Amino acid sequence: MNRVYNFSAGPSALPLEVLEKAQAELVCHGTSGMSVMEMSHRSAAYQAIIDECEASLRKLLAIPDNYKVLFLQGGASSQFAMVPLNLFNKSKKADCVLTGLWAKKFAKEAGRYGGVKIVGTSEDKTFSYIPKLNKADFRPDADFFHITYNNTIYGTKFAKLPDVGDVPLIADMSSSILSEPVDVSKFGIIYAGAQKNMGPAGLTVVIIREDLIGNAMDITPTMFNYETHSENGSMFNTPPTFAIYICSLVCKWLEDLGGLQAMKAINEEKAAILYNYLDSSEMFRATVENKEDRSLMNIPFVTDNDELNAKFIKEATAAGFVNLKGHRSVGGMRASIYNAMPVEGVKALVDFMKKFETENK
Ligand code: PMP
Repeated sequence: MNRVYNFSAGPSALPLEVLEKAQAELVCHGTSGMSVMEMSHRSAAYQAIIDECEASLRKLLAIPDNYKVLFLQGGASSQFAMVPLNLFNKSKKADCVLTGLWAKKFAKEAGRYGGVKIVGTSEDKTFSYIPKLNKADFRPDADFFHITYNNTIYGTKFAKLPDVGDVPLIADMSSSILSEPVDVSKFGIIYAGAQKNMGPAGLTVVIIREDLIGNAMDITPTMFNYETHSENGSMFNTPPTFAIYICSLVCKWLEDLGGLQAMKAINEEKAAILYNYLDSSEMFRATVENKEDRSLMNIPFVTDNDELNAKFIKEATAAGFVNLKGHRSVGGMRASIYNAMPVEGVKALVDFMKKFETENK
C-alpha cells in the first residue's frame, strides 16, 4: 500500500527515513542482540541511546549548560499540573495568556494550586489571533508566566515573546518544537509532547532552567517533582524507552538536514505555498487573517459552506490527503504540516485544492 500525505495534528507523520531506520533495527539494535523495546533502561546499550538523544537535542536547540533536559511520560497535559506544583513557591501567582484550548486547560489546572491572572485572551474571535499584551498588566512578583507558543487547533503562533522581565517564561511548545531555532535562554521551562515533531506519543520533553528545580510545593507527588527526574537522569522509573529512541533518530534526521535553521527555511517554504494559495483563492480562506500571527505548523482553513467543506474533506481523503478535518471548535479544515511533511506534499495538496475549486465553482 502507498503511504498517504498525513496532515494529522498529532500523532503525526514521521520522516520516512526514520521509520525505515527503525524498521531495519527493530529486531536487533546494533550489537545488542535485541530490540530497543526489549532493552533494560539501565543497560549500557540503552544509556548510549538516551545520552545520544539528549546530546542531539542540546545541539539542535543550542540548549545552555544551566538547563536540564528531562524525558518524561504523562503528555504535555501532565505539565499543566507539574509546572504550577513545582513553581508555586513564592507568591503562588501565575500570569497566563489564553490563546486556545490548551492554554485554557493549563490556566484552569494551574488555578487549582495558586492565583492565575489572565493577562490576555483572544477567545472573543475563536482564538484566531495572538492578543496584544500590556506589560502593565503583568505581575512582577508572579512565580511564572505561561504561554502556548504555537496553538495547534487555531493555527497561531507568538511572533514576539512577551517581555516578562525576571519572571520565568514557561512555554508549551508541543506543536512547534524543533521546527525552527528558539532562544532557550529566554525561557524558564519549555515542554512538549513528542507526538508531533519529535517522535511517537508517550514521551514528553521538558527543558528546564536548573534554578527552577528543587522548590516544589509540599503536596507534589514524587513523580510530578522535576527534582526526582533531574536527579536520576530521567531514570527514577522506566522512561518511554522506544519513544526516546525514535526521538533520537528524528534528531539525527534533522542534523543531517542541516539543523533547525535549514528546517525553518523548509517550513517557511511549505507554509508560504499553502498561505499564498489560501490568500488568493475565491473558495478557501485561512482562518488566521493577521499574517504575523500565523503558525508555520498548523494551518486551519475554511470555505463559507459546511457542505462544501465536507465534500472537500471526503474527496481529499480519497485522493490520499488524510486527516484534514479541522477541530470542531473551528470547523472546516486544518493542514498540519510538521517537519516530516515534505514540500511535495504541500504542493500536491494545493494542486488538489485548485482543481477542487475549479470543479466546484
Ligand atoms: N498542548 C498543545 C499545544 C497540544 O497541541 C496538545 C495536544 N494536541 C497538548 C498540549 C496535549 O498534549 P498531550 O496529549 O501530550 O497531553
